[in-house]
Amino acid sequence: MTVLDAFRLDGRVALVTGGNRGLGAACAVALAEAGAEVALLGRTEPADTRKRIEALGRRVTYLPCDLGTAAPEEFTAAVGAVRADLGRLDILVNNAGIIRRAPAAEVTPADWHDVLTVNLDAVFHLSQAAGRAMIAQGSGKIINVASMLSFQGGIRVPAYTAGKHAVVGLTRALANEWAGLGVNVNAIAPGYLITDNTAALREDPARAAAILERIPAGRWGTPEDLGGAVVFLASEAARYVHAAVLPVDGGWLAR
Ligand code: NAP
Repeated sequence: MTVLDAFRLDGRVALVTGGNRGLGAACAVALAEAGAEVALLGRTEPADTRKRIEALGRRVTYLPCDLGTAAPEEFTAAVGAVRADLGRLDILVNNAGIIRRAPAAEVTPADWHDVLTVNLDAVFHLSQAAGRAMIAQGSGKIINVASMLSFQGGIRVPAYTAGKHAVVGLTRALANEWAGLGVNVNAIAPGYLITDNTAALREDPARAAAILERIPAGRWGTPEDLGGAVVFLASEAARYVHAAVLPVDGGWLAR
């Protein structure tokens, strides 16, 4: 196998959360371009992403699930459904996430709860369900979507920052346990990418200018900028990579 062959994902099955739009859609399409069949788990029928994956000649399935209310058993059922529909499960991308902006003194208990339920609790429960299947088959790749706010405090997003710091801790904890069992657990930390998640920042001229000024690459990222990182971490090319947190940030963290 040449090194480029090691990046191919033919015959693999990926489960991507929040693949309806934004980074999840781009990651799902990138995985399909590399050869994978894709299951999309989320709360909205991902018609556009489905069409893009089918156009590549890959199989795609949709699993309806609200990560904000799902019980842990639903994640086990979702993993079972992927294996029933697509035959196996090799790759999990924990992408779905929400952000609620408010000064710390004004964050409501509901906002705190909702953000941590989707951005952290669901990541653990789905990783646990997928991890059990991957351990049993002796191979698997779990990729968590972290953030610049896995490293920094952020501004008026305390629940989001707490959750994204925790995602890195969880990535390391799972990697420590599962690296020896054939399962690679890593994270990608996107910088400032153009999606609905960052719309409020781009609509605030002062924040938008301050952010752009700090990005060494001189531009905001696009969802497609994540494609190479997610395919790499999902592939055999990353077989000895465990517990890494790969920034895809235009150099933001270096400033
Ligand atoms: P986005 O455009 O707002 O998309 C979020 C996705 O998550 C959507 O597909 C959404 O589904 C799904 N989702 C949200 N709540 C859900 C729930 N309760 N159940 C099921 N699915 C749910 O955001 P994005 O920028 O692509 O963000 C994707 C991930 O990247 C998040 O974890 C985010 O924190 C992280 N991130 C983004 C950036 C950035 O610059 N954009 C930077 C760092 C990290 P619906 O379409 O059904 O609403």
